[in-house]
Amino acid sequence: MDRKYIDCREMPSENNCDLAMAGSEEHLVEAAAIHAVTAHKHEDTPELREQIRGAMKDEVPGAIA
Ligand SMILES: [Zn+2]
Repeated sequence: MDRKYIDCREMPSENNCDLAMAGSEEHLVEAAAIHAVTAHKHEDTPELREQIRGAMKDEVPGAIA
């Protein structure tokens, strides 16, 4: 499985969100964009999705507790 993860603590945020998500890149971008809109009041733009892709890392098994 080639999964990526994203940790909200590494994204610019105003509410100290500590959510982490993992999945295939396609699904992760989708989930992270929805999260950014609902939890962080961002707008779902191509720029936002670029920023999300840039913040993704390869998932390390066991790294997310
Ligand atoms: Zn968040």
